[in-house]
Amino acid sequence: MITHFLKQRFSHLLVAILLAGQCVFAQQAAIQRVNPTNWWVGMHWKNLQLMVYGPEAGKLTYSVAYPGVRLVKTHTVENANYAFLDLTIAPTAKPGTLKLVGKRGSQTLTQPFELKARDNSPKGQGVTDADFIYLAMPDRFANGDESNDKFADLADPNADRSNPFYRHGGDLAGAEKHLDYLKDLGVTAIWFTPVLENNQPLTNEGGSMRSAYHGYGFTDHYEVDRRLGGNEAYKTFVKKAHAAGFKIVQDAVYNHVGINHWILKDLPMKDWLHQWPTYTNTSYKYQPVTDPHGAESDRNVTVNGWFVPFLPDLNQSNPYVANFLIQHALWTVENFGVDAWRVDTYMYNDMPFMNKCNQALLDEYPRIHIFGESWVNNVVDQAYYTRNKIDFPFKSNQPGGLDFVVFSAINDGLKTKSNDGVNRFYEALAQDAVYVNPNKLVTFLDNHDTDRYLSMIGEDFDKYKIGLTWLLTTRGIPSMYYGTEILMKNFKDPSDAEVRRDFPGGFPGDKVNKFEAAGRTDRENEAFQHVRKLATYRRDTPALHSGKLMQFLPQDGTYVYFRYDDKKTIMVATNMTDKDVSLDTRRFVERMKGFAKARNVLTDQDLSDLSLIKLPTKTATVLELSR
Ligand code: CA
Repeated sequence: MITHFLKQRFSHLLVAILLAGQCVFAQQAAIQRVNPTNWWVGMHWKNLQLMVYGPEAGKLTYSVAYPGVRLVKTHTVENANYAFLDLTIAPTAKPGTLKLVGKRGSQTLTQPFELKARDNSPKGQGVTDADFIYLAMPDRFANGDESNDKFADLADPNADRSNPFYRHGGDLAGAEKHLDYLKDLGVTAIWFTPVLENNQPLTNEGGSMRSAYHGYGFTDHYEVDRRLGGNEAYKTFVKKAHAAGFKIVQDAVYNHVGINHWILKDLPMKDWLHQWPTYTNTSYKYQPVTDPHGAESDRNVTVNGWFVPFLPDLNQSNPYVANFLIQHALWTVENFGVDAWRVDTYMYNDMPFMNKCNQALLDEYPRIHIFGESWVNNVVDQAYYTRNKIDFPFKSNQPGGLDFVVFSAINDGLKTKSNDGVNRFYEALAQDAVYVNPNKLVTFLDNHDTDRYLSMIGEDFDKYKIGLTWLLTTRGIPSMYYGTEILMKNFKDPSDAEVRRDFPGGFPGDKVNKFEAAGRTDRENEAFQHVRKLATYRRDTPALHSGKLMQFLPQDGTYVYFRYDDKKTIMVATNMTDKDVSLDTRRFVERMKGFAKARNVLTDQDLSDLSLIKLPTKTATVLELSR
């Protein structure tokens, strides 16, 4: 399908070029787009490359007359409808609107381009181990504005909540209404699946026509999707969320774009994308990237093959593509006030490009956090994509990463019927020596691409609480997928739409409202309070953020670890067996010496004797020790 699509596009382009050649002096040039759409004075990134697009825009001779701004070079490329202009912006340049002047023969075009003043609003604050991230799909979380559910002029004009694959109308205005709910839950950072425009048609996936409600197929890097509220709604949302004390994580996709992206209709050059003689999908195999014995051809397919036929793979080793993506990232942080990046399909990107992009963000915003999705199942491969201590030929500068190893360890450990389940979690953490700082990894129990946590662990409510207790007391930056706190469940069978259901109460006409305690069942309220109690305790307890972790070998289905700093020591003791256990604590003297009492964080009970601690069956007990 895609090869046919591109052939069609290229033949149109060819016709256009031929026509242009025949009447080259007759056609008037025009400028239709400039990306980035504006810039700022006083940025660290002061060598800006503007992409200028329009009929014959590449045939104009450009000049800029603005104090402190110099046009260093104009690049023309294969497609005469593009010009790439290298500008330098001196630190002395003042905010204002400069004029890009393009001339050809008797024709003169003037294009305004704004250099804004940077404002003092929060941006690039980062997320740290003091945060608790909530991941939501805006289309599925809450609908605050029914007037933006669908638009007849978009490639997919549908919205229909009865169809699991169509858009459901959720938006930023809806999420804004529930900031209080998230605050009460103990959340400190919000991560939405991508908010950029996905003006994609319905695509056939697995035999059914599906919309791009997930947001991973960008069609314009400088527009937030209208169905979520557009750029202004995003700005407003970020401002309100910041004022309420939340940080914002934006979901970035560098690896690919949507097949309906405007650039694809008239590519600047053939190698803007990774073009293959015949359609080539990535193998989704991560081993060839890190394997010292791996074949280059295998690596090439993994990294440069397309993620799916309707998400063409960008060639990030092309410097124009690299500049386009890096400048977009910087523009987004500066324009909207984003605090952190979650990077989609991290391992499929060109790694030297990723380092360059990460560095540009870190140079501009030293506190920003970046955590990519590298879906691997072992520590060595996971370490490759973050700052690590392994002697790999390529060294990643990514500060963080999503911790798929801990994700698997917790779920596998809880899934098993055997008492040894705790060992999986213990063993995963025992390998942390490979990371420069494992506290910068983002931990999770499930997400929009996996089965839901509750279903994975067999809907066992005791285990549900254990896993959440681990998530919120172990090292790293915990994140939780929306609805986990109200026991939303499901497997991806028959499709991932099953794990992306609407949050009950978020949509007009919903019969139940689970944003409120009265709308939740007793068990859902117990789950909600479990998360809330741990999240708020964690929020107020630095030992659970940056404190050290010490763990002891699991024994007979019990597993004990401590988080501690100069001020506090917290003991987390898990009993995975089907019997109550009286835990003899002499084995833990190394960490418990000097402590005589404790408070149970989950039950608020005081313990006056720590020599034998009662651990009820299938529980994780959290104790704050005191002298
Ligand atoms: Ca809406």
